[in-house]
Amino acid sequence: MAGICILGATGTIGLNTLDVIGQHPEQYQVIALTANQNVERLLQLCIKWSPRYAVMVEPDAAEQLAYRLKALNSDVTVLSGVEGLVKVAQLPDVDKVMAAIVGGAGLLPTLAAAQAGKTVLLANKEALVMSGHLFMQAIRDTGATLLPIDSEHNAIFQCMPAQFQQVGDLAQLGVHKILLTASGGPFRKTPLEQLGEVTPEQACAHPNWKMGQKISVDSATMMNKGLEVIEACWLFNTTTDFIDVVLHPQSIIHSLVAYVDGSVLAQLGNPDMRTPIAHALAYPKRISAGVEPLNLIEIARLEFEPIVDGRFPCLQLAYEAMRIGGTATTILNAANEIAVQAFLERRIRFTQIPRLIENTLAHIPAKTVTCLDDVLADDTQARLWATTWLDKLQSPF
Ligand code: NAD
Ligand code: MG
Repeated sequence: MAGICILGATGTIGLNTLDVIGQHPEQYQVIALTANQNVERLLQLCIKWSPRYAVMVEPDAAEQLAYRLKALNSDVTVLSGVEGLVKVAQLPDVDKVMAAIVGGAGLLPTLAAAQAGKTVLLANKEALVMSGHLFMQAIRDTGATLLPIDSEHNAIFQCMPAQFQQVGDLAQLGVHKILLTASGGPFRKTPLEQLGEVTPEQACAHPNWKMGQKISVDSATMMNKGLEVIEACWLFNTTTDFIDVVLHPQSIIHSLVAYVDGSVLAQLGNPDMRTPIAHALAYPKRISAGVEPLNLIEIARLEFEPIVDGRFPCLQLAYEAMRIGGTATTILNAANEIAVQAFLERRIRFTQIPRLIENTLAHIPAKTVTCLDDVLADDTQARLWATTWLDKLQSPF
Protein backbone atom coordinates (compact mmCIF):
# COMPACT_ATOMS: atom_id res chain seq x y z
CA MET A 1 0.00 0.00 0.00
CA ALA A 2 1.31 3.45 -0.87
CA GLY A 3 0.81 6.17 1.75
CA ILE A 4 -0.66 9.35 0.24
CA CYS A 5 -0.67 12.97 1.40
CA ILE A 6 -2.93 15.35 -0.51
CA LEU A 7 -1.99 19.02 -0.17
CA GLY A 8 -5.13 20.92 -1.25
CA ALA A 9 -7.52 18.00 -0.78
CA THR A 10 -10.70 20.09 -1.02
CA GLY A 11 -9.88 21.54 -4.46
CA THR A 12 -10.66 20.23 -7.92
CA ILE A 13 -7.41 18.26 -8.21
CA GLY A 14 -7.58 17.04 -4.60
CA LEU A 15 -11.11 15.69 -5.05
CA ASN A 16 -10.25 14.07 -8.39
CA THR A 17 -7.28 12.39 -6.69
CA LEU A 18 -9.54 10.98 -3.97
CA ASP A 19 -11.92 9.77 -6.67
CA VAL A 20 -9.12 7.74 -8.32
CA ILE A 21 -7.83 6.46 -4.96
CA GLY A 22 -11.37 5.38 -4.07
CA GLN A 23 -11.36 3.12 -7.13
CA HIS A 24 -8.23 1.32 -5.83
CA PRO A 25 -8.59 1.11 -2.03
CA GLU A 26 -6.27 -1.90 -1.83
CA GLN A 27 -3.36 0.10 -3.31
CA TYR A 28 -3.48 3.50 -1.59
CA GLN A 29 -3.86 4.65 1.98
CA VAL A 30 -4.76 8.28 2.68
CA ILE A 31 -2.38 9.46 5.42
CA ALA A 32 -2.95 13.23 5.36
CA LEU A 33 -5.43 15.71 3.87
CA THR A 34 -5.02 19.49 3.92
CA ALA A 35 -7.12 22.56 3.14
CA ASN A 36 -6.97 26.30 3.65
CA GLN A 37 -10.06 27.21 5.69
CA ASN A 38 -13.18 25.31 4.62
CA VAL A 39 -13.93 23.32 7.80
CA GLU A 40 -17.10 21.68 6.52
CA ARG A 41 -15.45 20.28 3.40
CA LEU A 42 -12.38 18.91 5.18
CA LEU A 43 -14.58 17.47 7.93
CA GLN A 44 -16.60 15.52 5.37
CA LEU A 45 -13.39 14.22 3.77
CA CYS A 46 -12.01 13.19 7.19
CA ILE A 47 -15.21 11.25 7.94
CA LYS A 48 -15.02 9.47 4.60
CA TRP A 49 -11.26 8.79 4.41
CA SER A 50 -10.12 8.58 8.07
CA PRO A 51 -6.66 10.05 7.42
CA ARG A 52 -4.14 10.03 10.24
CA TYR A 53 -3.63 13.81 9.91
CA ALA A 54 -5.76 16.74 8.73
CA VAL A 55 -4.27 20.21 8.31
CA MET A 56 -6.13 23.51 8.09
CA VAL A 57 -3.89 26.49 7.38
CA GLU A 58 -6.11 28.93 9.27
CA PRO A 59 -5.65 28.29 13.05
CA ASP A 60 -9.30 29.11 13.89
CA ALA A 61 -10.49 26.69 11.24
CA ALA A 62 -8.12 24.02 12.60
CA GLU A 63 -9.54 24.51 16.08
CA GLN A 64 -13.09 24.15 14.80
CA LEU A 65 -12.20 21.05 12.82
CA ALA A 66 -10.54 19.43 15.84
CA TYR A 67 -13.61 20.20 17.95
CA ARG A 68 -16.02 18.74 15.39
CA LEU A 69 -13.90 15.61 14.92
CA LYS A 70 -13.60 15.07 18.69
CA ALA A 71 -17.38 15.21 18.99
CA LEU A 72 -17.46 12.32 16.50
CA ASN A 73 -14.88 10.33 18.50
CA SER A 74 -12.50 10.53 15.56
CA ASP A 75 -8.77 9.96 16.15
CA VAL A 76 -7.63 12.19 13.26
CA THR A 77 -4.83 14.50 14.46
CA VAL A 78 -5.48 18.10 13.41
CA LEU A 79 -2.56 20.45 12.70
CA SER A 80 -2.50 24.06 11.52
CA GLY A 81 -0.40 26.59 9.65
CA VAL A 82 2.31 26.18 7.06
CA GLU A 83 4.25 24.14 9.67
CA GLY A 84 1.43 21.62 9.63
CA LEU A 85 1.54 21.41 5.82
CA VAL A 86 5.32 20.93 5.85
CA LYS A 87 5.10 18.27 8.56
CA VAL A 88 2.56 16.08 6.75
CA ALA A 89 4.43 16.44 3.44
CA GLN A 90 7.45 14.84 5.14
CA LEU A 91 5.84 12.09 7.28
CA PRO A 92 7.81 8.81 7.13
CA ASP A 93 4.78 6.76 6.08
CA VAL A 94 3.90 9.12 3.24
CA ASP A 95 5.27 7.79 -0.06
CA LYS A 96 3.53 10.09 -2.52
CA VAL A 97 2.57 13.73 -2.10
CA MET A 98 -0.08 15.22 -4.36
CA ALA A 99 0.89 18.90 -4.52
CA ALA A 100 -2.47 20.51 -5.36
CA ILE A 101 -2.53 23.75 -3.38
CA VAL A 102 -3.25 26.71 -5.65
CA GLY A 103 -0.67 29.49 -6.03
CA GLY A 104 2.50 30.45 -4.17
CA ALA A 105 1.01 29.11 -0.92
CA GLY A 106 1.96 25.66 -2.20
CA LEU A 107 5.68 26.42 -2.49
CA LEU A 108 6.95 25.58 1.01
CA PRO A 109 5.09 22.27 1.52
CA THR A 110 5.80 21.14 -2.05
CA LEU A 111 9.48 21.96 -1.64
CA ALA A 112 9.42 20.15 1.72
CA ALA A 113 8.11 17.00 0.01
CA ALA A 114 10.95 17.20 -2.53
CA GLN A 115 13.51 17.75 0.24
CA ALA A 116 12.19 14.65 2.03
CA GLY A 117 12.71 12.58 -1.13
CA LYS A 118 9.02 11.81 -1.66
CA THR A 119 7.41 11.00 -4.98
CA VAL A 120 5.96 14.42 -5.80
CA LEU A 121 2.85 14.51 -7.99
CA LEU A 122 3.01 18.11 -9.11
CA ALA A 123 -0.19 20.02 -9.93
CA ASN A 124 0.94 23.22 -8.17
CA LYS A 125 2.76 24.71 -11.19
CA GLU A 126 3.23 28.03 -9.37
CA ALA A 127 5.80 26.38 -7.05
CA LEU A 128 7.98 25.55 -10.04
CA VAL A 129 7.43 28.94 -11.69
CA MET A 130 8.49 30.70 -8.48
CA SER A 131 11.56 28.65 -7.70
CA GLY A 132 12.27 26.17 -10.48
CA HIS A 133 16.01 26.21 -9.90
CA LEU A 134 15.79 25.37 -6.17
CA PHE A 135 12.97 22.91 -6.65
CA MET A 136 14.74 20.87 -9.33
CA GLN A 137 17.94 20.98 -7.27
CA ALA A 138 16.06 19.54 -4.27
CA ILE A 139 14.67 16.76 -6.47
CA ARG A 140 18.17 15.90 -7.73
CA ASP A 141 19.79 16.14 -4.28
CA THR A 142 17.37 13.75 -2.59
CA GLY A 143 16.64 11.46 -5.54
CA ALA A 144 12.94 12.30 -5.23
CA THR A 145 10.67 11.39 -8.15
CA LEU A 146 8.81 14.25 -9.80
CA LEU A 147 5.73 13.38 -11.87
CA PRO A 148 3.71 16.08 -13.63
CA ILE A 149 -0.06 16.25 -13.12
CA ASP A 150 -0.69 19.22 -15.38
CA SER A 151 -2.29 17.46 -18.35
CA GLU A 152 0.12 18.98 -20.91
CA HIS A 153 3.23 18.06 -18.96
CA ASN A 154 1.91 14.65 -18.13
CA ALA A 155 1.31 14.16 -21.87
CA ILE A 156 4.86 15.32 -22.71
CA PHE A 157 6.27 13.05 -20.01
CA GLN A 158 4.42 10.12 -21.61
CA CYS A 159 5.73 11.04 -25.10
CA MET A 160 9.36 11.34 -23.96
CA PRO A 161 11.76 8.41 -24.38
CA ALA A 162 12.16 6.40 -21.18
CA GLN A 163 15.87 7.35 -21.01
CA PHE A 164 14.88 10.99 -20.44
CA GLN A 165 15.02 10.41 -16.67
CA GLN A 166 18.70 9.42 -16.91
CA VAL A 167 19.98 11.44 -19.88
CA GLY A 168 18.01 14.64 -19.25
CA ASP A 169 19.23 16.27 -22.48
CA LEU A 170 16.52 16.67 -25.09
CA ALA A 171 18.88 17.34 -28.02
CA GLN A 172 20.83 14.18 -27.25
CA LEU A 173 17.56 12.23 -27.28
CA GLY A 174 16.63 13.58 -30.71
CA VAL A 175 13.84 15.84 -29.49
CA HIS A 176 13.28 18.72 -31.90
CA LYS A 177 10.45 20.60 -30.16
CA ILE A 178 7.88 20.36 -27.40
CA LEU A 179 4.44 21.39 -28.64
CA LEU A 180 2.15 22.57 -25.86
CA THR A 181 -1.53 22.60 -26.78
CA ALA A 182 -3.87 25.31 -25.49
CA SER A 183 -7.65 25.42 -25.76
CA GLY A 184 -7.61 29.23 -25.97
CA GLY A 185 -10.11 29.43 -23.08
CA PRO A 186 -13.53 31.07 -23.16
CA PHE A 187 -12.40 34.25 -24.98
CA ARG A 188 -10.56 32.73 -27.92
CA LYS A 189 -12.96 34.38 -30.35
CA THR A 190 -14.26 37.32 -28.30
CA PRO A 191 -13.64 40.58 -30.23
CA LEU A 192 -10.62 42.30 -28.63
CA GLU A 193 -12.59 45.50 -27.93
CA GLN A 194 -15.06 43.52 -25.78
CA LEU A 195 -12.42 41.94 -23.51
CA GLY A 196 -12.46 44.94 -21.16
CA GLU A 197 -16.08 44.16 -20.28
CA VAL A 198 -15.91 40.41 -19.57
CA THR A 199 -16.94 39.24 -16.08
CA PRO A 200 -15.33 36.78 -13.65
CA GLU A 201 -18.26 34.40 -14.27
CA GLN A 202 -17.59 34.40 -18.01
CA ALA A 203 -13.85 33.95 -17.41
CA CYS A 204 -14.47 30.96 -15.12
CA ALA A 205 -16.75 29.17 -17.62
CA HIS A 206 -14.05 27.14 -19.35
CA PRO A 207 -15.33 25.33 -22.46
CA ASN A 208 -13.60 21.97 -21.74
CA TRP A 209 -12.26 21.72 -18.18
CA LYS A 210 -13.84 22.15 -14.73
CA MET A 211 -11.19 23.80 -12.57
CA GLY A 212 -10.61 26.10 -9.56
CA GLN A 213 -11.24 29.84 -10.06
CA LYS A 214 -7.61 30.98 -10.23
CA ILE A 215 -6.54 28.55 -12.95
CA SER A 216 -9.79 29.26 -14.83
CA VAL A 217 -8.95 32.98 -15.03
CA ASP A 218 -5.36 32.06 -15.93
CA SER A 219 -6.74 29.95 -18.79
CA ALA A 220 -8.85 32.86 -20.01
CA THR A 221 -5.83 35.24 -20.06
CA MET A 222 -3.54 32.41 -21.25
CA MET A 223 -1.23 33.15 -18.34
CA ASN A 224 -1.90 29.50 -17.56
CA LYS A 225 -0.14 28.56 -20.81
CA GLY A 226 2.65 31.00 -19.97
CA LEU A 227 3.12 29.38 -16.56
CA GLU A 228 3.08 26.01 -18.33
CA VAL A 229 5.85 27.08 -20.75
CA ILE A 230 7.98 27.95 -17.71
CA GLU A 231 6.95 24.71 -15.98
CA ALA A 232 7.96 22.72 -19.09
CA CYS A 233 11.39 24.41 -19.22
CA TRP A 234 12.13 23.22 -15.68
CA LEU A 235 10.55 19.78 -15.89
CA PHE A 236 12.18 18.90 -19.19
CA ASN A 237 15.46 20.73 -18.67
CA THR A 238 15.06 22.99 -21.69
CA THR A 239 14.62 26.60 -22.83
CA THR A 240 11.71 28.58 -24.27
CA ASP A 241 13.18 28.21 -27.80
CA PHE A 242 12.35 24.50 -27.65
CA ILE A 243 8.69 25.09 -26.79
CA ASP A 244 5.88 26.13 -29.14
CA VAL A 245 2.26 26.73 -28.19
CA VAL A 246 -0.50 25.73 -30.59
CA LEU A 247 -4.22 26.37 -30.16
CA HIS A 248 -6.27 23.17 -30.12
CA PRO A 249 -9.80 24.13 -29.07
CA GLN A 250 -11.07 20.58 -28.36
CA SER A 251 -8.47 19.71 -25.65
CA ILE A 252 -8.20 16.11 -26.87
CA ILE A 253 -4.48 16.17 -27.70
CA HIS A 254 -2.90 17.19 -24.39
CA SER A 255 0.52 17.99 -25.93
CA LEU A 256 3.10 16.60 -28.36
CA VAL A 257 6.81 15.92 -28.72
CA ALA A 258 8.41 16.38 -32.16
CA TYR A 259 11.61 14.43 -32.95
CA VAL A 260 14.38 15.29 -35.42
CA ASP A 261 13.40 12.40 -37.71
CA GLY A 262 9.98 13.97 -38.33
CA SER A 263 8.07 11.75 -35.87
CA VAL A 264 5.58 13.58 -33.68
CA LEU A 265 4.23 11.73 -30.63
CA ALA A 266 1.02 12.92 -28.99
CA GLN A 267 -0.99 11.86 -25.97
CA LEU A 268 -4.76 11.93 -26.45
CA GLY A 269 -7.64 11.52 -24.05
CA ASN A 270 -10.90 13.02 -22.89
CA PRO A 271 -10.35 16.24 -20.93
CA ASP A 272 -10.55 14.65 -17.46
CA MET A 273 -7.79 15.25 -14.89
CA ARG A 274 -8.27 11.74 -13.48
CA THR A 275 -6.16 10.43 -16.41
CA PRO A 276 -2.92 12.27 -15.51
CA ILE A 277 -3.66 11.73 -11.79
CA ALA A 278 -4.02 7.95 -12.26
CA HIS A 279 -0.92 7.89 -14.47
CA ALA A 280 1.20 9.62 -11.85
CA LEU A 281 -0.26 7.70 -8.89
CA ALA A 282 0.47 4.32 -10.43
CA TYR A 283 3.65 5.17 -12.41
CA PRO A 284 5.27 3.16 -13.92
CA LYS A 285 2.23 0.86 -13.78
CA ARG A 286 -1.22 1.73 -15.13
CA ILE A 287 -4.52 1.74 -13.25
CA SER A 288 -8.06 2.55 -14.37
CA ALA A 289 -9.18 6.12 -13.75
CA GLY A 290 -12.93 5.94 -14.33
CA VAL A 291 -12.54 8.11 -17.44
CA GLU A 292 -14.84 7.64 -20.46
CA PRO A 293 -13.00 5.88 -23.31
CA LEU A 294 -12.04 8.27 -26.11
CA ASN A 295 -14.47 8.00 -29.02
CA LEU A 296 -12.56 9.16 -32.12
CA ILE A 297 -15.55 8.72 -34.44
CA GLU A 298 -17.65 11.00 -32.25
CA ILE A 299 -14.84 13.59 -32.12
CA ALA A 300 -14.35 13.25 -35.90
CA ARG A 301 -12.08 16.30 -36.29
CA LEU A 302 -9.09 17.69 -34.43
CA GLU A 303 -8.49 21.40 -35.09
CA PHE A 304 -5.43 23.60 -34.66
CA GLU A 305 -4.92 27.36 -34.92
CA PRO A 306 -1.96 29.71 -34.52
CA ILE A 307 -1.76 32.12 -31.60
CA VAL A 308 -2.68 35.56 -32.97
CA ASP A 309 -0.31 38.37 -31.91
CA GLY A 310 -1.77 40.79 -29.37
CA ARG A 311 -4.65 38.61 -28.15
CA PHE A 312 -2.85 36.98 -25.22
CA PRO A 313 -0.31 39.46 -23.79
CA CYS A 314 0.07 37.35 -20.60
CA LEU A 315 1.60 34.53 -22.63
CA GLN A 316 4.23 36.90 -24.04
CA LEU A 317 4.99 38.26 -20.55
CA ALA A 318 5.64 34.72 -19.30
CA TYR A 319 8.01 33.98 -22.21
CA GLU A 320 9.85 37.23 -21.48
CA ALA A 321 10.13 36.53 -17.75
CA MET A 322 11.59 33.07 -18.41
CA ARG A 323 14.12 34.56 -20.85
CA ILE A 324 15.17 37.13 -18.21
CA GLY A 325 15.50 34.31 -15.65
CA GLY A 326 16.32 34.54 -11.92
CA THR A 327 13.41 35.89 -9.91
CA ALA A 328 11.62 37.37 -12.96
CA THR A 329 9.22 34.41 -13.02
CA THR A 330 8.68 34.77 -9.24
CA ILE A 331 7.70 38.41 -9.83
CA LEU A 332 5.48 37.46 -12.77
CA ASN A 333 3.68 34.83 -10.67
CA ALA A 334 3.20 37.12 -7.67
CA ALA A 335 1.80 39.99 -9.76
CA ASN A 336 -0.48 37.58 -11.59
CA GLU A 337 -1.89 36.19 -8.34
CA ILE A 338 -2.68 39.71 -7.10
CA ALA A 339 -4.19 40.68 -10.46
CA VAL A 340 -6.37 37.57 -10.74
CA GLN A 341 -7.71 38.01 -7.20
CA ALA A 342 -8.49 41.68 -7.93
CA PHE A 343 -10.30 40.71 -11.14
CA LEU A 344 -12.31 38.04 -9.27
CA GLU A 345 -13.25 40.73 -6.72
CA ARG A 346 -14.24 43.07 -9.61
CA ARG A 347 -11.61 45.62 -8.64
CA ILE A 348 -9.94 45.60 -12.07
CA ARG A 349 -10.94 44.79 -15.61
CA PHE A 350 -9.82 41.64 -17.39
CA THR A 351 -7.59 43.74 -19.67
CA GLN A 352 -5.84 45.31 -16.67
CA ILE A 353 -4.45 41.93 -15.57
CA PRO A 354 -1.52 41.99 -18.08
CA ARG A 355 -0.95 45.72 -17.44
CA LEU A 356 -0.47 45.14 -13.72
CA ILE A 357 1.93 42.26 -14.36
CA GLU A 358 3.94 44.20 -16.95
CA ASN A 359 4.16 47.17 -14.64
CA THR A 360 5.37 45.04 -11.72
CA LEU A 361 7.97 43.29 -13.88
CA ALA A 362 9.22 46.67 -15.10
CA HIS A 363 9.64 48.06 -11.56
CA ILE A 364 11.23 45.19 -9.69
CA PRO A 365 14.63 44.13 -11.00
CA ALA A 366 15.03 40.36 -11.20
CA LYS A 367 17.82 38.81 -9.13
CA THR A 368 19.82 35.64 -9.41
CA VAL A 369 18.39 32.88 -7.21
CA THR A 370 20.90 31.54 -4.71
CA CYS A 371 18.56 30.52 -1.90
CA LEU A 372 14.90 30.41 -0.93
CA ASP A 373 15.11 33.83 0.71
CA ASP A 374 15.87 35.42 -2.70
CA VAL A 375 12.61 33.94 -4.00
CA LEU A 376 10.52 34.83 -0.96
CA ALA A 377 11.88 38.40 -0.85
CA ASP A 378 10.98 39.16 -4.47
CA ASP A 379 7.64 37.39 -4.11
CA THR A 380 6.77 39.69 -1.18
CA GLN A 381 8.09 42.79 -2.93
CA ALA A 382 6.14 42.06 -6.11
CA ARG A 383 2.90 41.45 -4.19
CA LEU A 384 3.42 44.72 -2.33
CA TRP A 385 4.10 46.69 -5.50
CA ALA A 386 1.10 45.19 -7.30
CA THR A 387 -1.20 45.84 -4.33
CA THR A 388 -0.05 49.46 -4.13
CA TRP A 389 -0.68 49.90 -7.87
CA LEU A 390 -4.20 48.56 -7.37
CA ASP A 391 -4.87 50.88 -4.45
CA LYS A 392 -3.86 53.85 -6.60
CA LEU A 393 -6.44 53.05 -9.27
CA GLN A 394 -9.42 55.34 -9.00
CA SER A 395 -12.58 53.49 -9.95
CA PRO A 396 -11.63 50.87 -12.49
CA PHE A 397 -15.23 50.10 -13.51
P1 NAD B 1 -8.84 24.80 -6.29
O1 NAD B 1 -9.03 26.26 -6.08
O2 NAD B 1 -10.00 23.98 -6.71
O3 NAD B 1 -8.25 24.13 -4.93
C1 NAD B 1 -7.18 24.71 -4.26
C2 NAD B 1 -6.82 23.92 -3.00
O4 NAD B 1 -5.76 24.64 -2.33
C3 NAD B 1 -7.96 23.80 -1.97
O5 NAD B 1 -7.90 22.57 -1.33
C4 NAD B 1 -7.65 24.92 -0.97
O6 NAD B 1 -8.12 24.66 0.35
C5 NAD B 1 -6.14 24.96 -0.99
N1 NAD B 1 -5.61 26.28 -0.69
C6 NAD B 1 -6.02 27.49 -1.20
N2 NAD B 1 -5.30 28.49 -0.66
C7 NAD B 1 -4.44 27.94 0.21
C8 NAD B 1 -3.46 28.47 1.09
N3 NAD B 1 -3.22 29.80 1.19
N4 NAD B 1 -2.76 27.62 1.85
C9 NAD B 1 -2.99 26.29 1.80
N5 NAD B 1 -3.92 25.71 0.99
C10 NAD B 1 -4.64 26.53 0.21
O7 NAD B 1 -7.65 24.64 -7.33
P2 NAD B 1 -7.38 23.47 -8.38
O8 NAD B 1 -8.10 23.75 -9.65
O9 NAD B 1 -7.57 22.14 -7.73
O10 NAD B 1 -5.83 23.69 -8.71
C11 NAD B 1 -4.82 23.34 -7.78
C12 NAD B 1 -3.46 23.45 -8.45
O11 NAD B 1 -3.41 22.51 -9.53
C13 NAD B 1 -3.17 24.83 -9.06
O12 NAD B 1 -1.82 25.12 -8.93
C14 NAD B 1 -3.51 24.63 -10.53
O13 NAD B 1 -2.77 25.48 -11.38
C15 NAD B 1 -3.10 23.17 -10.75
N6 NAD B 1 -3.80 22.51 -11.85
C16 NAD B 1 -5.15 22.36 -11.81
C17 NAD B 1 -5.80 21.76 -12.88
C18 NAD B 1 -7.30 21.55 -12.86
O14 NAD B 1 -7.83 20.95 -13.80
N7 NAD B 1 -8.03 21.99 -11.85
C19 NAD B 1 -5.07 21.31 -13.98
C20 NAD B 1 -3.70 21.47 -13.98
C21 NAD B 1 -3.06 22.08 -12.90
MG1 MG C 1 -2.62 22.43 -17.99
